[in-house]
Amino acid sequence: MIAAKAYAAQSPETNLAPWNFERREVGPHDVQFDILFCGVCHSDLHQIKNDWFPGIFPMVPGHEIVGRVIKVGDHVKNFKVGDLAGTGCMVDSCQVCENCKQDLEQYCLEGSTQTYNSFERDGKTPTYGGYSNTIVVREEFVLHISDKLNLAAVAPLLCAGITTYSPLKHWKVGKGHKLAVLGLGGLGHMAVKFGVAFGAEVTVLSTSPKKEEDARKLGAHHFLVTTDADQVKAAKGTFDFILDTVSAPHDFNMYLSLLRTNGSMICVGVPPEPAQVTAFSLLGGRKSLSGSSIGGIAETQEMLDYCAENNIVSEIEMIDIKDIQKAYDRMIRGDVRYRFVIDMATL
Ligand code: NAP
Ligand code: ZN
Repeated sequence: MIAAKAYAAQSPETNLAPWNFERREVGPHDVQFDILFCGVCHSDLHQIKNDWFPGIFPMVPGHEIVGRVIKVGDHVKNFKVGDLAGTGCMVDSCQVCENCKQDLEQYCLEGSTQTYNSFERDGKTPTYGGYSNTIVVREEFVLHISDKLNLAAVAPLLCAGITTYSPLKHWKVGKGHKLAVLGLGGLGHMAVKFGVAFGAEVTVLSTSPKKEEDARKLGAHHFLVTTDADQVKAAKGTFDFILDTVSAPHDFNMYLSLLRTNGSMICVGVPPEPAQVTAFSLLGGRKSLSGSSIGGIAETQEMLDYCAENNIVSEIEMIDIKDIQKAYDRMIRGDVRYRFVIDMATL
């Protein structure tokens, strides 16, 4: 086994603290890489707090992982020692079901193996995430990372990036579309960057008036404060798409009213409680409510390559791992600008 260190939550009631554990030996199809940076996703906070379902503890969060390869298994073809490498939210899947065969491992019919708070394919070995010094991942789930971009700012692409890129691609959002990005946090700011890059007219819907200047710097064409009733009223029936990245309960019916006829609201945010949606919000104007989860491995690589070509990275605030709790507190207040990234050298 490989000795590893991390910050872990021992239970939903405790703060993260240093923890030593073991990773599996590098198998024939595995890549081991030392973690240099790991992004802090709101999903980390949801999971250590049991917001969605009872978690597996001790829990080492982190699924926006980048680093450098230190060892590869005998059968590994596409990575060598010294390469940059990344891993997002998944580390395995059945790889044979209908969805996996179509590069949709995130929708694996047997359930994909999450990077943490999940079990390996054996159903009993827990997985541990990226707030750690090193990780072992099977080759198929390791991504190639360009050396052209700031590595720390690439880390959030592995979750926030692909989670917003994938639905915009699937729904073919681009020129001629009015796209609203709901919530300007980690996912939201990447959605703005991709929406603008794909040619859409982008509006940020935010509860934080102070983020307007940043939204415009990110390329947004308009900014709407959702607590201002007059601004909301004026925007009724205007958007083709709303990409909803909000992490807390919010009024779906109000946001659906902002869609134009045939418009779609796409949920990527995962509030802890279910939403209440009246059928009237959908049938008046033939509207759709849908959802999207991260992206497949091939699409994640496509997104990373697209970002390298188009010089797209996340706007980050680098933190020491000992300050993770402060980062979570700010995240709960909506005060992220726009992704915390842990410098893993501080572990
Ligand atoms: P984040 O950085 O904390 O951003 C969330 C933003 O939502 C906040 O910055 C805030 O933006 C807005 N917000 C917060 N509370 C709100 C409220 N009560 N009403 C309206 N807006 C509110 O979080 P994130 O890392 O981007 O993650 C967002 C959500 O996506 C989380 O639930 C996360 O678990 C989920 N997620 C899903 C996937 C997937 O595959 N579908 C992948 C990753 C993450 P403003 O200040 O602009 O209002
Ligand atoms: Zn995430």
